[in-house]
Amino acid sequence: MAREQSHPRRRSPEQPASVWKEKELIDGKAVDAGVVILRTSGCSHYHEGGCTMCGYNFESDRSVTPGDIVKQFENAMKDLGEIGFVKVYTSGSFLDECEIPKETAEHILRTAADRSLRVLFESRPEYVTPDSLERVLAANEHVEIALGLESSNDRVLKYSINKGFTRADYERAASEIADKGIDLRTYVLLKPPYLTEAEAVSDSKETVAFASRFSTAVSLNPVNVQKGTLVERLWRNWAYRPPWLWSVLEVLKASHGKARRLICDPTGGGKERGAHNCGRCDDVILSSIKAYSQSQDIGKLGWPDCECKDIWKTVMDLDGFVMGGTADLQRFSRPGAKGP
Ligand code: SF4
Ligand SMILES: [Zn+2]
Repeated sequence: MAREQSHPRRRSPEQPASVWKEKELIDGKAVDAGVVILRTSGCSHYHEGGCTMCGYNFESDRSVTPGDIVKQFENAMKDLGEIGFVKVYTSGSFLDECEIPKETAEHILRTAADRSLRVLFESRPEYVTPDSLERVLAANEHVEIALGLESSNDRVLKYSINKGFTRADYERAASEIADKGIDLRTYVLLKPPYLTEAEAVSDSKETVAFASRFSTAVSLNPVNVQKGTLVERLWRNWAYRPPWLWSVLEVLKASHGKARRLICDPTGGGKERGAHNCGRCDDVILSSIKAYSQSQDIGKLGWPDCECKDIWKTVMDLDGFVMGGTADLQRFSRPGAKGP
């Protein structure tokens, strides 16, 4: 799920974890979208171990009540003012009744419908059922559901991400969403831990192709190193490097035309904890990724010449031959590098 990890603050439980506005492309037009991150009790899967890269549950709070969640949403809507679309995120699944009771979810969806707002929310596949979808549609017909598939490879899902579901689970949920005529956005993770750079690129290309069969939009999400995660422990020990921006470009270029809409907004892009290159070419590549996501025009994906591309190519060729294949080889070669 591509968003900044915010940090727990002592705030009223009636205030959402975060609220902001951004542009979103709907039917070819850029509209003002509101983003609301509700503070909830957190993802049920997180309470059973969680995904290796996920630190969103830092902001969850088990004392939050359903009434608090309704107030959080209402306060967010007041702050957002005029918008045409609202993304309602939690630290887990909007359809998980342990996190958001169904009456609360329906209230939020109806409040948005009363303002003629289309709603995007996220869920794990296990909460997507014909019943839950019917309840959603009865409250608001204009919804888009996001599923975090991450990888279409069951071994990557199990051993690298600890996702707790399989490709078949995603396929079932995606088919049920399609049967109801609901738009599906699928998140694809680029470079979960224990994959080399080359394996990660190949895994994301395959996953985008697979997810495109079911999705109205596919979002490529390069891993960013979030606090309190297994990925952070590996990264601190120089055993993990977030993906290169060259890898992001490579996946987008190869996947263009497969998905109806292919989007990417690398969280922490250009920084040490996010997808990055050498520091000199990062900004121009990030701008081109943004321009591509908004326009779907492959001509906008830039390829500035930069010396670091040769290093990336070497990493792509070599890092499978090095013990512990995901090590940050570039970090070891920097002047003054002292090791973990
Ligand atoms: S399912 Fe989503 S929210 Fe839950 S631990 Fe995994 S990435 Fe985080
Ligand atoms: Zn560079």
